Amino acid sequence: MAFDEVLGHEQARDGFCRALKRGRIAHAYLLAGPEGVGKGLLALQVAATLLCPHSGIGSSASAEVGKCGDCGSCHAVNSANHGGLQILTPGEGRGIDLGQIREMIRFLSLRSGERRVILIEPTERLAEPAASALLKTLEEPPPGAVFLLVCHRPAQLLTTIVSRCQRVTMGPLAREPFLEVLAGRQVDHQLACRLYQGTGGRPGAALSLFEAIERCGGEQRFRAVIASPPEDPRDLVAISTEDGGKPDRDAVLATVGLLADGVWAFRGDDPAGRRLAAERATLLAQVARHVEWSGSPDLALEAAAMILSALDPAELRFRLPRSLGVA
Ligand SMILES: [Zn+2]
Repeated sequence: MAFDEVLGHEQARDGFCRALKRGRIAHAYLLAGPEGVGKGLLALQVAATLLCPHSGIGSSASAEVGKCGDCGSCHAVNSANHGGLQILTPGEGRGIDLGQIREMIRFLSLRSGERRVILIEPTERLAEPAASALLKTLEEPPPGAVFLLVCHRPAQLLTTIVSRCQRVTMGPLAREPFLEVLAGRQVDHQLACRLYQGTGGRPGAALSLFEAIERCGGEQRFRAVIASPPEDPRDLVAISTEDGGKPDRDAVLATVGLLADGVWAFRGDDPAGRRLAAERATLLAQVARHVEWSGSPDLALEAAAMILSALDPAELRFRLPRSLGVA
């Protein structure tokens, strides 16, 4: 099957395969599903296929549709340097802004009619004016343009944007393809099983957690950090960023997400251990939501440290929102 760099996700891959083979390409796709399941990777494969002159799109004669992987176009996509592909991601500490969408519109006005691909990830990080400008473009898409909108939280998108897109839903991976992805990245099998447990089958999240573990100096040290957090909660961001990383909103969001996956991955196997880990992971997810809705990153880290060290985190449940400065 084409898109074989993406493991699992047969339904999504097959859907793209059939559409491209028939040459029936929608002007916009919404790849929706939890963070870290492989949506971005599939989107990039689809972009490469759309741009590769040897992909066999629309030719029922060719047995397979897919990028050749070998031509100038495929190499250019791989090195993020293709004149027909624009990738929009949030800048450091901010969303995807109007300036980026204007730049994209300018890009689309060049070489009109030729195939050009716009990949936006994650689409829910579009700032409000940027989202409106994108919607306008989706309403009257320039010929040849294909939009690939990667989105972890489609409920946060304008429904008018969602309705302009063909939706491709991607869920967590089954255990087997998940373990295959991690084995391909030289993650020890036993740890990979833990990471499957911790992330519920999201290989991207598992690899981030693996990096965090490595950054801490191994599994034992990582477990020690989450069992007894550092005195200054701001030191917690060291698990998600290289030395010198600032505890800004994005770093804190990443850190809290890693902590939630981490406590769940390394939970005790007895019912009490599972209950405690579930309680901690749920509260950490709640803290992450507060940060997303512009809660204070510093308070979030303080709360995370409280959650990790509390013997009875359930007791914190009603105190946390206030300590985060959210009414
Ligand atoms: Zn090619």
